[in-house]
Amino acid sequence: MSVRRIALAIIVIAGLLCGLAFAQAQKGAKKGAAKAQKAQGEEKDRTLGYDDTDVLPDQKWRVHDVARPRPRIITPGTESSPERPGRAPADAIVLFDGKDLSKWAARMRSGEMGEAKWKVESGYMEVTAGTGDIITREKFGDCQLHIEWASPAEIANKSQFRGNSGIMLMSRYEIQVLDCYENPTYADGQAGSMYGQWPPLVNACRKPGEWQSYDIIFEAPRFDGDKVAKPAFVTVLHNGVLLHHRQQFIGRTPHARVGTYAPHSPEEPLLLQNHGGDKVRFRNIWIRRLGGYDQQ
Ligand code: MG
Repeated sequence: MSVRRIALAIIVIAGLLCGLAFAQAQKGAKKGAAKAQKAQGEEKDRTLGYDDTDVLPDQKWRVHDVARPRPRIITPGTESSPERPGRAPADAIVLFDGKDLSKWAARMRSGEMGEAKWKVESGYMEVTAGTGDIITREKFGDCQLHIEWASPAEIANKSQFRGNSGIMLMSRYEIQVLDCYENPTYADGQAGSMYGQWPPLVNACRKPGEWQSYDIIFEAPRFDGDKVAKPAFVTVLHNGVLLHHRQQFIGRTPHARVGTYAPHSPEEPLLLQNHGGDKVRFRNIWIRRLGGYDQQ
């Protein structure tokens, strides 16, 4: 073969190789574009969730699961000011709106419900001597409770006899109400204590006569026959300050004794304590039953 022919053959082969490379490149580019387009399409679909991610441990849902039910929409309430109580969230049961005691009853010795006779005026209710405790007509178990209270502005006594009342969850488990502003008393009987069991983490009391708030998240105990399957737990905020963080009740909260559990219904009335007629005031009381995750 002459040199000329060899050169010609090389040129032809080089040309063929170039053409092949070009075709491959074009094919690759097309494939890449299609892949990008596909990815873009998938991204659009994923704006509301995923259906191909890992399943979360101990859950039936995937990470960002597109099929997971979205939480119910609740219009939130408003904050209270010293002069004016706030508004409850839309799904709350309002137990007292400052007008009447229609949601409350007196607890009779017979176990029957009587008329609640605490004084109601100017948007609040006030513990009234000789009328006993009051309980809600409706019963509750796991709940979120908001309640506002004020100790008597006039200081008439000391320690446990200064503005004593109590929030008795399920009529049994007391979060203490007491004027603890410059009023020494035993730690596990201070305002916000789990009475006789755990003192509050801090003393966040306002001055007597000023409105104060408790926000309480309560998990009711569960019983299996006579046995405690799960004790009660409570989280308490006093004027927005944490007093208890899912702390466990030992049992009921009697005075000067270690309380124990006795089986009761899954829901029981909420009770406000009349402690010797101390004129404690309450306003803006609302409660929400607590459900689990993924419930509509
Ligand atoms: Mg009390």
